[in-house]
Amino acid sequence: MTKPHILIAGAGIGGLAAALALLQRGYRVTVVEQARDLAEVGAGVQISANGAHALFSLGLEPALERAWFEPAGKEIRLWSTGETWKLFDLGAISRARYGAPYFMIHRADLYGILLDAVRAAASDAVRLATRVTGFARDAGGVTLLCENGTRFTGDALVGADGVHSRIRNLLLGDMPAHFTGLMAWRGLVPTQRLPERLQRPVGANWVGPGGHVVHYPVRRGELLNFVGTVERNDWRVESWTERGTIEEVLHDFAGWHADVRLIISNIEAPFKWALLGREPLTRWSVGRVTLIGDAAHPTLPMMAQGANMAIEDAVVLARCLDAQDDVAAALRAYEAARRERTSRMVRAANDNARRFHNPALGNAEGAARYVGSEWQEAKVKQRYDWVFEYDPVRAAI
Ligand code: FAD
Repeated sequence: MTKPHILIAGAGIGGLAAALALLQRGYRVTVVEQARDLAEVGAGVQISANGAHALFSLGLEPALERAWFEPAGKEIRLWSTGETWKLFDLGAISRARYGAPYFMIHRADLYGILLDAVRAAASDAVRLATRVTGFARDAGGVTLLCENGTRFTGDALVGADGVHSRIRNLLLGDMPAHFTGLMAWRGLVPTQRLPERLQRPVGANWVGPGGHVVHYPVRRGELLNFVGTVERNDWRVESWTERGTIEEVLHDFAGWHADVRLIISNIEAPFKWALLGREPLTRWSVGRVTLIGDAAHPTLPMMAQGANMAIEDAVVLARCLDAQDDVAAALRAYEAARRERTSRMVRAANDNARRFHNPALGNAEGAARYVGSEWQEAKVKQRYDWVFEYDPVRAAI
């Protein structure tokens, strides 16, 4: 029997991972992407064991290994004094404890690896420069409607079109978003510009009252990825491509430790992103249409799990479709398998936002007490083990 033809709106990390997982199981796949070319913006992404399991199941480990940076661990640092605490050990510990590595990678590298693999499996699967405007359904299938007049007909539609998902809005109505009062600066720094102490093989999470900074190496350690989040009410655009200036970033991190300011001074091009919060959805599969990744469960970045969840979704969705012939029932099974975990992740990220920016971090003594208590080993395990222990290739569906 011929397997269903799956339409995917959006060729981001989730859309490409889903396309690959489905192509490898013998499905026909068409991915429709609005961007003219697939050059990703410069930024890093952290992939933990749960996401690594999914990517490795797609045969991508050798290609990823050539591009990633595998850190020895992650640290918490205090915004003012630079005092350092262990967050968790990674490297061999992640492999032993969770069965896969934790790695950091340039988004463009991850994107390129996924795209090459999709094109190797089906050279014409990805249609660029084609913006989806809507879809139509009947008992037999789904038709994707595009701005340039093109139409694609298939057996199911997967909305992988990101946080502002058109497919989600048409399927379920507008998803209310509230501005968190936070915005994130992003940038990359050539590592060789930095002193040796900032080239250590670790990810750092600087916490402070009203802001936090995450930095980690990517591209085999050649670049340092910087994300600096601050409380600011005057920036409300949620986009990967809005640029700012180094002066503006330095202004936002006035009074922070000299190492943070040194990294900022060496950023090649800072970009800014307003952080909007959204409540988890209770359902996102309707008939032959479903959602994955940010379209289904947008989250604040404070658990570093948005891309991981999109990749997990992709593999679980492909497994569910493969497990039964009824497409709508398979999409419902996928949603049921993912609802609780993704909602919990959205809430965990909200909790981390409060933790990372806590007013108790204002003075050194109070800060040391707060960090010692909040990042105590047992609490860290409780907050992260359930995230990293999940294996989307084997999880119940
Ligand atoms: P996207 O990557 O947004 O892809 C959506 C695609 O759909 C895009 O290519 C877009 O062009 C296309 N599209 C949209 N509308 C249409 C349309 N109408 N027609 C056709 N195509 C369309 N996650 C992690 O796991 N680890 C991290 O370390 C991490 N760090 C982060 C740091 C920051 C500052 C931020 C903001 C996010 C971070 N994330 C991280 C989250 C992660 O980036 C997202 O969760 C992830 O990119 C979601 O992937 P996606 O495929 O669902 O959506």
